[in-house]
Order: sequence, then C-alpha cells, then structure tokens
Amino acid sequence: MATWTIGNVTVTRIEEQLGFASLPPRQFFDGFEPEALARHLDWLVPHHYSPEHDRLVTSIHSWLIRTGRHTVLLDSCGGNHKERPGFPRFHQLQTPFLQRLRAAGVAPDQIDIVLCTHLHADHVGWNTMLVDGRWVPTFSNARYLFSRLEDEIGDPRRNPAADANLLRGTAYRDSVLPVIEAGRAVLVDGEHAIDDDLTIVPAPGHTPGHVAIWLANSAGCALFCGDALHHALQVHAPHWNSTFCELPEVARRTRRSLLERSEERRAAVFPGHFGAPHVVRIRAAGREFAPQFVEPDRA
Ligand SMILES: [Zn+2]
Repeated sequence: MATWTIGNVTVTRIEEQLGFASLPPRQFFDGFEPEALARHLDWLVPHHYSPEHDRLVTSIHSWLIRTGRHTVLLDSCGGNHKERPGFPRFHQLQTPFLQRLRAAGVAPDQIDIVLCTHLHADHVGWNTMLVDGRWVPTFSNARYLFSRLEDEIGDPRRNPAADANLLRGTAYRDSVLPVIEAGRAVLVDGEHAIDDDLTIVPAPGHTPGHVAIWLANSAGCALFCGDALHHALQVHAPHWNSTFCELPEVARRTRRSLLERSEERRAAVFPGHFGAPHVVRIRAAGREFAPQFVEPDRA
C-alpha cells in the first residue's frame, strides 16, 4: 500500500477508484488551452491523461494519516450503494474500500478523526454505510470534522439550492446528515489545530468552505490541498479551474497562493485526485510552477 513518511507521521493512500474523468479536458477545465495539454503530453501519458480516450486520468482516494496521536481519514470518496443517477462514476458503487483500509492495518472503528476538505459527493461517501436500510456512520468511534460554512451551504433544508447541485443535496442527506444526527460531527471555523502536527486552514474557491490541511514537524512539511488542485496540469496552469469550482476567482487565487506556499516550504503536496504517483512537490520554473512527482517510501 503506497505510503509516504514525514518524520513520525505516515500517509497512506486508500484507493476507491482510478479511472477517467467524466468530461474531456476542454469541458473539465474552465480556461482550458489545448496547446498546454499538447506541450506536456510526454509526462501526462499514461498516468494523467489518455489521448486515446481524450480523458484526464483521475484518482478517487482517501489519505490515511497516522500521526502517533491520531489516526485520521482525510476525505471519504464516493462510498458504496449511494444513489447518484446524475454521476455514473459514483452511482451505486460496490468497491472494496474498507477491505483496503483494513489491509493498511486500520479497522473502521480505529479511525479517530474523519476530515472532509469539502462536502461534495466524492469527498463524503464513506462517512456512512448502509445497514438494514439506514445510513449509519461508518467510523463508529470517530469525530467527523466539517467546515461550518460547508455544512450551511450543503444542507438543503437551509439552502434549497443545494438540491439542484448534483454534488451536494443528495450527498448531504445520505453522507453528512446521518453523522450529525448521530452526534459525531464537529463543525469548525477558520484555522483549527488538530494536534501538534496537523492544522486545518480555510482554502476557499473550489467551494466556499473548502479547507486544506498542513502537516508540519521537525522532519518536513506536507499540504493536503483537497480539490484546490484537481489535476497535475493545473500546477502549470493555475489559472484553469475545474468546472466544479463554485467561486472561480477565489479558486484561482487560493490555488496560486497554495502553490507559492508549497514551493517555499518544500512541502509534499497530497491532492484529492492526482494520478500516480499521486503526490508532488512544487518547483519554481521561472515565474511559473512545475510538478515534481514524489514516489512513495513503501509501495
Ligand atoms: Zn473532488
């Protein structure tokens, strides 16, 4: 199982799916420039783009972060048995995600903290599972940390527009609300320290309440940027948004600022959807940036 080590902290990738984005790049990216894709084909194929299918390769995974004090699951993918008729990639899945988590050495009841960078359907699914026809929290001993703003926007009872958003309303009802009703949710505002190693910071744009997580210890630094960066090509083209970014101008600003900070801090960056090897460092290339992929310490 692919694992990266930062001092006494390990980060393991728990895969749900590795496959093609549902849209071709010209529709996936707002601001797409075909010449940029053409220029980078040598490293994009095969792990980040398939010319044959004209599709980006994207991964749906969780990051399992073991800090010594806490076992944290960051983002929880699409989940099994979820009704997502508008999104074939997430509709009625049956993946062995929990077996993969166990293979990494962690049973669901050993997760201390579940953290969602935002409340889109591909980041909350395994928060719950179907038991006797009811959605119950999958990680029975965990505190689930959600951004308070995301909770407000995602809840169709308080924001009826959430029901019109394919990524929000239904996912809130089956993957967020049952966690809140079970008393397992903690809503966080602004910057929030989880322990000595991990800090949640606001990183708005992809969604208004989107957060990122910094990991820092004496051995180094990492950034879990969620969907602030969707695809490795955006390291070269930070002005491209994904079509799913809800606040386009803010998303561009946040992306650039996270790239700058990551480059300055020599951080290993763990995004939500990059293709293999899924982790990058950011190099300055003139006035631009370039990704430098980071292989796991243990495969
Ligand atoms: Zn996502």
